[in-house]
Amino acid sequence: MNILVVNGGSSSLKYQLYDMEREVVTAKGLCERIGLGGSRLTHTAMESGVKTVYEGAMDDHKAAIAQVFNALVASEGGVLKSHTEIDAVGHRVLHGGDKFTESAIVTDEIEAMVEQLIPLGPLHNPANLAGIRACRDLMPGVPQVAVFDTAFHQTMPEHAYTYAIPYEYYDKYGVKLRRYGFHGSSHRYVSERAAKMLGRESDPNFKVIVCHLGNGSSFSACKGGRSVDTSMGLTPLEGIPMGTRSGSIDPTILQFIMNREGLSMDEMIDVLNKKSGVLGISCVSSDFRDIDGAAKEGNHNAQLALDIFRYVGKKLIGSYAAALEGVDAIAFTGGVGENSGDTRAAMTSGLEFMGVVLDAEKNAERGAERDVSAAESRVRILVIPTDEEFVIAADTVRLTAAGVTPDSQ
Ligand code: ADP
Repeated sequence: MNILVVNGGSSSLKYQLYDMEREVVTAKGLCERIGLGGSRLTHTAMESGVKTVYEGAMDDHKAAIAQVFNALVASEGGVLKSHTEIDAVGHRVLHGGDKFTESAIVTDEIEAMVEQLIPLGPLHNPANLAGIRACRDLMPGVPQVAVFDTAFHQTMPEHAYTYAIPYEYYDKYGVKLRRYGFHGSSHRYVSERAAKMLGRESDPNFKVIVCHLGNGSSFSACKGGRSVDTSMGLTPLEGIPMGTRSGSIDPTILQFIMNREGLSMDEMIDVLNKKSGVLGISCVSSDFRDIDGAAKEGNHNAQLALDIFRYVGKKLIGSYAAALEGVDAIAFTGGVGENSGDTRAAMTSGLEFMGVVLDAEKNAERGAERDVSAAESRVRILVIPTDEEFVIAADTVRLTAAGVTPDSQ
């Protein structure tokens, strides 16, 4: 079964083609500058290693998908004879609100719901919809599956997702004002892998804290394979400071800055999403490797940015251990979580009192899935490379193989 996984951004589109019989990626690529002029598609055929670059107009997502089809069947770097060999498409969709506790086959009703949630995902949901509509137009009848970043966290209890604001606002506007959480496919994948690594797959009491640390970062507390709390909120802005996002701050700061800088609310939120986080503090970069480099050269603000990121991460681990009333494993994932031993060490240091003991040597080694805790550690510290695309492909197979069709939903 050939499954195309599509992750549509506002001016970009990432894709991977899976051969799900063998569970391997056969091709992947990225379309950039869609609708902006100077568009390009970089395509890689995984088994031959052939990499091709296409330059040429991509005025919208439909043109981008058409170009992806060309790349998939091209004599150089192609992996299919025709795009009709694609059996189904899985789409990453940012915001599923409280309607989606699971992935879903795309129907008109589901498209309408994703559209209704645009106010909560103003950049991503329109792009995700554009990807869905482009595929539907270019491959009519081929099932499209939406996999929501929010779905995994829908198991959170009411006391974890309700904000302490006047309750009348909660359900007044067509979208519920509550914590949703994001990176759901990653938290789901990593919590499942952690249980498997430790032989606790079917244990309803297995407790793991997943630390997804990348350009965007979020933590989750999972029990028995279900999310019970997570650090991102109504939108991905809440929680730990990230590459460019502030994470949680006192909202009064907005009023203070807006009054003095003459900013509108939209401009202020833009500052918090795009100019804050470790970029804002370090004044160097949003990229953790750049910040690491600057800190090692003695840049105070770069070091401060790392210190804040790591300190908030440690506090989240502590608070989620309390929320779970104990913890069996802490799992690190994402570009930073998988590659930065210093970050893992800083976020777990001083937690020996709760049975968390890192093995410095194992932590310094590189590798794939691994346990980096000391033999005596009561809590296992794991490094688990995430694979959100595989989760999307697997859900797409599961839903389409179950015989669910757009008409039967
Ligand atoms: P995204 O959220 O876009 O998926 P990733 O999970 O790929 O991001 O993470 C990207 C981040 O990981 C970048 O800030 C990058 O600098 C950081 N990173 C990658 N390798 C390392 C490393 N060896 N040490 C520190 N940070 C790293």
